[in-house]
Amino acid sequence: MTKKSQKSFSLAIHGGAGENVDKIRALEKESKESMAHVLEEGRKILAAGGTALDTVTLCVKLLEDNPLFSAGYGAAANAEGEFELDAAIMDGKTLEAGSVAAVLNIRNPVDLARLVMEKTEHIMLSGIGAGDFAKAHDIAMVTPEYFKEAHEKVPHMIERNKKHGTVGAVARDINGNLAAATSTGGWDAKMPGRIGDSPIIGAGCFADNDSGAVSCTGIGEDFMRTVLAAHIGFLIERCGLSAIDAAQEAINYLVKKVNGDGGFILVDKDGAVAIAQSSKVMRTGWIENGGETHTTLQPKIRADRKR
Ligand code: ASP
Repeated sequence: MTKKSQKSFSLAIHGGAGENVDKIRALEKESKESMAHVLEEGRKILAAGGTALDTVTLCVKLLEDNPLFSAGYGAAANAEGEFELDAAIMDGKTLEAGSVAAVLNIRNPVDLARLVMEKTEHIMLSGIGAGDFAKAHDIAMVTPEYFKEAHEKVPHMIERNKKHGTVGAVARDINGNLAAATSTGGWDAKMPGRIGDSPIIGAGCFADNDSGAVSCTGIGEDFMRTVLAAHIGFLIERCGLSAIDAAQEAINYLVKKVNGDGGFILVDKDGAVAIAQSSKVMRTGWIENGGETHTTLQPKIRADRKR
């Protein structure tokens, strides 16, 4: 590793993977502009010496507030028309983590997940307890109308009847600390009470300074069965794989084991970025070692699933 890469920072974000190529392509310009903006906001923090944790929190929050993405404001409703949201955050330096599952009326679930990490001795809160905890702290609450408004205001922006749509961010700061965060409304018309991979540490979100930071998107059940985010960390730390090799190996594994549908973003301990998918498209962007900002709907590392 060069001196430059030791002192530089990396950041990657995603706005969900999917199969509806036409619909996602129709929003390509808006999606890429939004992602580039989020990356530049993240760059400001990292370039000023800020932490990976603050960066992924801010990036996910900005994505949650954008109706183009199916988390926070633009989240999909469950079968009863309720907006039950999942989110997680993990600090690669300490292995501290926080997550919330199926929470109602929370504007930015990533903020609540971070609060769980910082203010409790637990990792995951759900149900009434999570709501009470949010109310007792400085967490922005909204009504269901807030989420409905996003759907009504910009129906063309929401990929309806899709099975998935999630946001995430992973970062390495100039001190070599890693962090990951993931947030979602889950599947459109999911069963009430259903919880996906996003708030499950090791499935949809993982960070460890000894390996990498990972955020996943796709059919959550596929990522839970394969514990994919932690699997990637294992490939790097225990098998000594590079970010690109670990990403290719992991996406192959997802397809081989469960014909899994989705993708992930990865920043490894040295700041290398790798993004992989088995879905047809994935909205994603990255900055590697303080370099240029990139966005794409077609990450290069792929595994083809049976359709
Ligand atoms: N993984 C998320 C879930 O299953 C959905 C997504 O990534 O789009 O809840």
